Amino acid sequence: MRRVVTAIPGPRSIELAARRAAAVPAGLASSSPVYADRAADGVLVDVDGNSFIDLGSGIAVTTVGNGAPRVVERAAAQLGRFTHTCFLVNGYESYVEVCETLNRLTPGSHAKRTALFNTGSEAVENAVKYARAATGRPAVVVFDHAFHGRSLLTMSMTAKNMPYKNGFGPFAPEVYRVPMAYPYRWPSGSEHAAAEAFAQFRLVVDTQIGAGSVAAVVVEPIQGEGGFIVPAPGFLRQVADFCAERGILLVADEVQTGIARTGNWFASEHEGIVPDLITTAKGLGGGLPLAAVTGRADVMDAAHAGGIGGTYSGNPVACEAALGVFETIESQGLLARARRIGEMLQAELTAIAADTNIIGDIRGRGAMIAAEFVTGADKAPNRDAVAEIVRYAQANGVLTLTAGTFGNVLRFLPPLTISDDLLLEGLGVIRDAVARI
Ligand SMILES: *Cc1c(COP(=O)(O)O)cnc(C)c1O
Repeated sequence: MRRVVTAIPGPRSIELAARRAAAVPAGLASSSPVYADRAADGVLVDVDGNSFIDLGSGIAVTTVGNGAPRVVERAAAQLGRFTHTCFLVNGYESYVEVCETLNRLTPGSHAKRTALFNTGSEAVENAVKYARAATGRPAVVVFDHAFHGRSLLTMSMTAKNMPYKNGFGPFAPEVYRVPMAYPYRWPSGSEHAAAEAFAQFRLVVDTQIGAGSVAAVVVEPIQGEGGFIVPAPGFLRQVADFCAERGILLVADEVQTGIARTGNWFASEHEGIVPDLITTAKGLGGGLPLAAVTGRADVMDAAHAGGIGGTYSGNPVACEAALGVFETIESQGLLARARRIGEMLQAELTAIAADTNIIGDIRGRGAMIAAEFVTGADKAPNRDAVAEIVRYAQANGVLTLTAGTFGNVLRFLPPLTISDDLLLEGLGVIRDAVARI
């Protein structure tokens, strides 16, 4: 289980860091200084023999655990058959089956199609291509605190300058930003967030951009990198209805929230919205690179043959892994497990918050829960506290991630296969870390 046998980082990790510094550019920054040797079910063992409780799942990727048996068996069998044909040259069944499964599981009973890609950025980028092809309109509307990726278009759609955009412009045109209904920081109070944010959204779309120029509104149903911001209740519904009235396509970016993470297959379900297009990635491939756009058949079929795709998109090993992910979620009841983990996280964090005034907000759904740290009643972001908690946790065998526009959010994304004991032990270390501040 949790076992720290060296200083963190240990000597082997320090050695690898030195080699890395000479071989890998500085722009690739790791949040933890330890190098992995192996990992499974919420435990990561480093090259020095230290065992960490993993509360981050490699950023919401290993939702079914690291090396879930069905993922490994299916991927390994596929490696023995063939590793690649390129779906644009020769198709294969697993690709089609992943698409059929996503068409079935995503919200809405309308006719759907799915296209596969390698990364979340690529999925978002292609969702915009589909939306533009289907509507003949150029503009894309995104929100404050959004994160949609690091490619030119998706970096342009991402809100935060540092580190994602600074120095990397000029950015892609026709990207417009509107306020997010962020309950904790809404100026006139959380109870006004939904109505006022929607009024501003409508005003910008109708008077500044012109609804007839907007191809898509792209929104994360819970904002991930932005700090696990759950939009004020009803906000997404109003946005969805508005889009439907104006012929604007609603794209739910579920790259982080999708595939059972929030206790439903998709976070859109919690808000009762049926997006026109949904992007998935992170949890989809069980650790292998796989991403998807799933959407209304008429929208998806609007792009001409050859206009969409990629050499590696929908790799057969990754597709088999994804089929293993679906099987694992269903056979192990991981939707219910995500909700249970969410209850435990909420309860433990609420108890920790009772003893301090630096936790301003606890939010999220299912196994996607965060605590926002502040300096006190003034709600000033407390980035230093979060950095110190992460450092203490690492030194004591727990891996956690941060998030938020102000870097002051501690986020929890444990694998759904983590045991209660391991989760509670990990949160006990977080409690000690908070108590020290
Ligand atoms: C991580 C993420 C992306 C980008 O995915 P990559 O695979 O890193 O390109 C896009 N949207 C959301 C909501 C994400 O969390």
